[in-house]
Amino acid sequence: MSVRIKFLGGARTVTGSSHLVSTDKSQVLLDGGLFQGHRDEFYRLNSTLNYNPHKIDALVLSHAHIDHCGNIPTLLKKGLRSKIYTTAATKDLSRLMLEDSGKIQEEDVRYLNKINRKLGLPLRKPLYTKKEASAATKRFRSLSYGQRFCLAKDVFVTLYGAGHILGSAIIVLEIKDKRRDIRLGYAVDLGRNDLPLIDDPVIPRNLDYLMLETTYGNRLHAPIAEAKVKLKEVINRTIERKGKVLIPSFTLERTQEVTYFLNELLKQKEIPAIPIYVDSPLATDITELFKYHLDYLDSQTRQEVNEGRGPFEFLNLTYIRNQEQSKRLNNDKRPMIIIAGSGMCESGRILHHLKNNIEDSRNTVLVVGYMAQDTLGRRIVERVPVVRIFGIEYELNAEVAIINAFSGHADKNELCDFVSGCLPLEKIFLVHGELEQAQGLFDALSQKGLSAYIPSRDEEVLLN
Ligand SMILES: [Zn+2]
Ligand SMILES: [Zn+2]
Repeated sequence: MSVRIKFLGGARTVTGSSHLVSTDKSQVLLDGGLFQGHRDEFYRLNSTLNYNPHKIDALVLSHAHIDHCGNIPTLLKKGLRSKIYTTAATKDLSRLMLEDSGKIQEEDVRYLNKINRKLGLPLRKPLYTKKEASAATKRFRSLSYGQRFCLAKDVFVTLYGAGHILGSAIIVLEIKDKRRDIRLGYAVDLGRNDLPLIDDPVIPRNLDYLMLETTYGNRLHAPIAEAKVKLKEVINRTIERKGKVLIPSFTLERTQEVTYFLNELLKQKEIPAIPIYVDSPLATDITELFKYHLDYLDSQTRQEVNEGRGPFEFLNLTYIRNQEQSKRLNNDKRPMIIIAGSGMCESGRILHHLKNNIEDSRNTVLVVGYMAQDTLGRRIVERVPVVRIFGIEYELNAEVAIINAFSGHADKNELCDFVSGCLPLEKIFLVHGELEQAQGLFDALSQKGLSAYIPSRDEEVLLN
């Protein structure tokens, strides 16, 4: 008998995580993530499957980030018939994330087809619509952390807390072989110790093989506590100038982490009680799920929420769904904090707030997340003197402050420590990272005498 892993996506890159584990009897897919990229490449990479989805016995999903769950509706359209196993929190969060992804694709295609129609070019279709995304989530089944479940004749799964985002899981497969049992771990993505809101990652012991993320395989993060100190400094100096603090933020986890720290700073009277707005219907819905899935929060947050002093509801904090209410913030000249998506300033309500506030030097744009190349967010980070928003040029006079300490991914040392807890480990497959980051971790693991390997996309390896 042979056990094989085919690295379908998220190999030598960070997006499109998906890996196929095959035995002679069964096939299990780990994640079905969306590749990000420019329009044509996005469509081509996500709609081309280099395996037969009919043959999959089970799909196990690690967490609700779109680079892990975002292509599941496409897989179903192409014939995947299996159930999708994940935690209850991920099941609910994925529904919101997938519906939003479907909606964005429909809007993008509608805009593009307007142009194509005029030019007589062929019309496009989205990978999937919002409706198809909703239908896909009906296939999801939830498993508890620590519950051992039979996925196929010869494969069992157990999920453990990954400490990355709400409901995130490290997946451990036990594969029954004639000669021996194989324990294969999948820590993609892996969180960090001491993140607010959720428990630290659990270390799965006695693994034979491990698939490990390497987003920051060659970097070291500042401690998360630094985020709070910097947040306080930036807010206080902006208030002194009577300005507004604009925080472009990812809707899932980062927004809730920011409100967590703001709540802490307010309770400790480290910042004055100015209005705080989460201006995003999606972030508002996601936060509702954080309150609903209390079991997935750490004990401190759970207790605070139960006592009514938690990070999701406090004096001064307002969630905005309504567009009119969002627009009214433009005329409100008081110092305030506005948290809005999208995280990289490519779309969403943050664009309106930037347009209205970026030319005023009293204001601050506070960057709390990763800004990819060729995004407006990256240009703001680079402090270019003039930025284009909705086709109009604006001078970037506002302060640009960057807090790097927010990160939901383990860094080089944290990844190495994690690996040490999973031994004996015959081999560690390094995925979900640019080559330079994967190589940095490869070198560090090799120095410890561990055998690591950086697979390429669509490469297949034999485990025994
Ligand atoms: Zn993630
Ligand atoms: Zn990821």
